[in-house]
Amino acid sequence: MSLRIRLRRRDVVCRQAVELVTGYLEGTLGRADRRRFESHLAGCPHCTEYLAQMRATIHLTGRITPEDLTPAMRQDFIALYRRWHAERGDQSGSGGSA
Ligand SMILES: [Zn+2]
Repeated sequence: MSLRIRLRRRDVVCRQAVELVTGYLEGTLGRADRRRFESHLAGCPHCTEYLAQMRATIHLTGRITPEDLTPAMRQDFIALYRRWHAERGDQSGSGGSA
């Protein structure tokens, strides 16, 4: 019941991280956003992978603009995230360390 809400919340967090990727790579993020992004990456392998993809894209194109982050790429990422979750199954009790 409430599990769905939690999953959706994480999904939103990941989407926000995706939004921050370009700024992060271009160094235009504020300090707070940068820290938020990095702390999210620390616990999120999918976003880490997404960042790696973005880096590869930049390596190819030289730079990245918001237009480069196409909806298709975002969908790709969301799909990756969903697949990851489907593979793991629903893991209850994601108790964080206090
Ligand atoms: Zn994430």
